[in-house]
Amino acid sequence: MTRSNNKASKVLACIYKPLGWFPVVIINAIAVWSYFAYVIILCVDNVTDPWEKGIYLAFYHPFFLMFMVCYWQAIMSSPGYTPSQFYLSSEDAEKYENAENPQEVITELAKELPIVTLSVNKTIRFCEPCYLIKPDRSHHCSMCQRCVLKMDHHCPWINNCVGWGNYKYFILFLSYSITYTMYVALTSLKYFIKFWSGNSVKANSNLHVLFLFFVSTMFSISLWSLFGFHIYLTLSNKTTLESFRAPIFQHGPDKKGFYLGRMNNFKQVFGNKKWKWFLPIFSTPGDGFGFPVRSSTTQNSV
Ligand SMILES: [Zn+2]
Ligand SMILES: [Zn+2]
Repeated sequence: MTRSNNKASKVLACIYKPLGWFPVVIINAIAVWSYFAYVIILCVDNVTDPWEKGIYLAFYHPFFLMFMVCYWQAIMSSPGYTPSQFYLSSEDAEKYENAENPQEVITELAKELPIVTLSVNKTIRFCEPCYLIKPDRSHHCSMCQRCVLKMDHHCPWINNCVGWGNYKYFILFLSYSITYTMYVALTSLKYFIKFWSGNSVKANSNLHVLFLFFVSTMFSISLWSLFGFHIYLTLSNKTTLESFRAPIFQHGPDKKGFYLGRMNNFKQVFGNKKWKWFLPIFSTPGDGFGFPVRSSTTQNSV
């Protein structure tokens, strides 16, 4: 890609960027509606037993809060971008552009950097649009128009890339979404059955109770497969992209190149302090561009 093409695609990205907020607005609208439908319509209007009402509301609020906080943490946190030392300086860029064999220039520059993975052609991974040497596990996101550290995927539901900096929040968001939707589905089930048996759900509550059960059940079922996949990835120390294409080391592709054992793999995302694991606090270790590799993998810079 030439630099002028690059500029044009950046302009297009600026135009399309606001449209990316549409799915976020939808999810937030559903979340706000679910709060109204559960708290006001279900609990206040329809649950008559004060104990049942109190218990439902007492558990509901922490679930709702954790779900919303993790969701916004995933949206607002940076996925992690390439540090300056990986970018070509203007001097190096000139050398690269005028060289007979540009790859030689890149290979020479990469000797100064902590890199252990290579491209499919066994050359140093270089990003033309960003003009940088790609850190291990980073990839260029065409939606974000930049390279993202330990890139997992670009998620339209958070209008953000999922990468090294917000992967923990993304997994917590999935797990608290499931907890929240399952809780709402299970506690509204009784009133959903009452509705179908023609029994005493207030007339103006019908649609809210009906949709509350349907929407929460639908979301909790559909999220399980995505959550299960990301638990598998975390315990394997892989990204979604690496699950499709194994990272390439000096000795060749190695799908277990970053595998450190299940517990250590988990800690590579959640950190060493147990009390931080399930809280929306940043606890991912490292810098996002240097990663420990399993002992049989070549650890020297290429
Ligand atoms: Zn890039
Ligand atoms: Zn992205």
